[in-house]
Amino acid sequence: MTTTESALLDAVPGLLFIGGEWVPSEAGRTLDVFDPATGRVLKSIADATPADGIRALDAAAAAADDWAATAPRVRGEILRGTFDLLTRRSDEAALLMTLEMGKPLAESAGEVVYGAEFLRWFSEEAVRISGRFGQNPEGTGQIIVSQRPVGPALLITPWNFPLAMATRKIAPALAAGCTVVVKPAELTPLTTLYLATLFREAGLPAGVLNVITTSNSAAVSGPIIADPRLRKLSFTGSTAVGRKLIAQAAENVLRTSMELGGNAPFIVFGDADLDTAVQGAMAAKFRNIGQACTAANRFIVHRSIAAPFAEAVAERVGTFTLGRGTEPGVNIGPLINDSAVDKVDELVRDALDRGARLVAGGHRPERIGSFYEPTVITNTPAGSDILREEIFGPVLSIVEFDTEEEAVALANDTQYGLVSYVFTENLARGHRMIERLDTGMMGLNVGVLSNAAAPFGGVKQSGLGREGGAEGIHEYLSTKYTLIPN
Ligand code: NAD
Repeated sequence: MTTTESALLDAVPGLLFIGGEWVPSEAGRTLDVFDPATGRVLKSIADATPADGIRALDAAAAAADDWAATAPRVRGEILRGTFDLLTRRSDEAALLMTLEMGKPLAESAGEVVYGAEFLRWFSEEAVRISGRFGQNPEGTGQIIVSQRPVGPALLITPWNFPLAMATRKIAPALAAGCTVVVKPAELTPLTTLYLATLFREAGLPAGVLNVITTSNSAAVSGPIIADPRLRKLSFTGSTAVGRKLIAQAAENVLRTSMELGGNAPFIVFGDADLDTAVQGAMAAKFRNIGQACTAANRFIVHRSIAAPFAEAVAERVGTFTLGRGTEPGVNIGPLINDSAVDKVDELVRDALDRGARLVAGGHRPERIGSFYEPTVITNTPAGSDILREEIFGPVLSIVEFDTEEEAVALANDTQYGLVSYVFTENLARGHRMIERLDTGMMGLNVGVLSNAAAPFGGVKQSGLGREGGAEGIHEYLSTKYTLIPN
């Protein structure tokens, strides 16, 4: 580890952030955070107990009324101040993310820009919360519709985008006037702790943002979700866990937002521009080492273009350099841990056993760390697990189709509905796909579409609710109707 890395890790508080103070776990327990490129411990941090979780909720509940009554402009300015601090220290934030999550530094820097943008976007949305006024149809009264913050929120985030998944929830919640308890993934908690230092420096009042880190998420989040003071649960993670949380949230009829798993189809029609499609494929597949809910999972390619497409992507994959994300020139970092590598390898083996053809990669490299070779397989047989499950790794798997009907049927043949990608030079066909693909988002001739100004979210078992855009703040507001008789 370099001295810059050690100094940065030392500067991140390894404690819980509750009521504006950095405090240890009441049981004095700690959990280790690892570097997936080396398997070495980066830092030991506080491991919260259920009682710590309730302490954090106490702080969020105590601060709720004052924060809801704080002028929207003031809330917005604190968010903007945090954006400025994060942008000024983007190198630090990017390095921290690469250390705990593994992605190449350039990608972490990209995530800092994307993640920070939610702070700026919602700093601007804070002052645009509005309602409406009208007469009732009988002409006997006035209808006023206003928006109120829903109240204290629990925000649970995954490890794959440690910064952006946190800001995408925290920023709209704070802008709306809600106080929050954030529970980052135990594999990558350091970035959220770092973010909390920036909020504090930007002048966020005590108790508005609380961060609890724990190795036992279920045990700690359960009592918070069961507590009637909590009014909102926002979760990003797997569909399996999301389903459990929806069931728990039902008890108190809690508002929920769920950003869950994906199984994105990436359709390349015969009339697509090959270079554009290949460029889109590289971004949609290999960004974040394939560990994105939006990662293209199934490449559905027209038979007329499948061979040149496979050849071109395999050629690009051949130029990748694997390594620790901090090393110059590396574009494929490690997966998050060894069990992720095992899962990816099982999916590849299953497809190959069923008759898929291996064009590139397909193995774990002989080196320390949780690495998997960037891989391309073609002729993936129907029924292969890789077509049904999230790969969450650098594996590009291709199936071929003949007709538009068949492409749509293949694309929609999944329980998920987060995002789809379509490559065609035929605008009318592109428009048809907007109507016909069952996904919450679609990229037309583009492989990455996340944007703070746009509503991110899925249909079917990919989730409920939207993050970002004008829609994002509504996840943290409740509508109030008042009638005033004439
Ligand atoms: P995960 O579901 O295992 O964990 C997500 C978070 O939930 C973590 O903080 C974890 O500690 C916590 N958690 C796990 N079990 C829990 C329980 N029983 N009760 C309460 N909390 C619990 O997911 P992951 O492996 O961290 O992330 C990968 C998944 O996230 C993938 O399925 C991916 O598609 C999804 N994801 C979705 C989006 C989106 O916006 N739709 C974005 C990023 C990731």
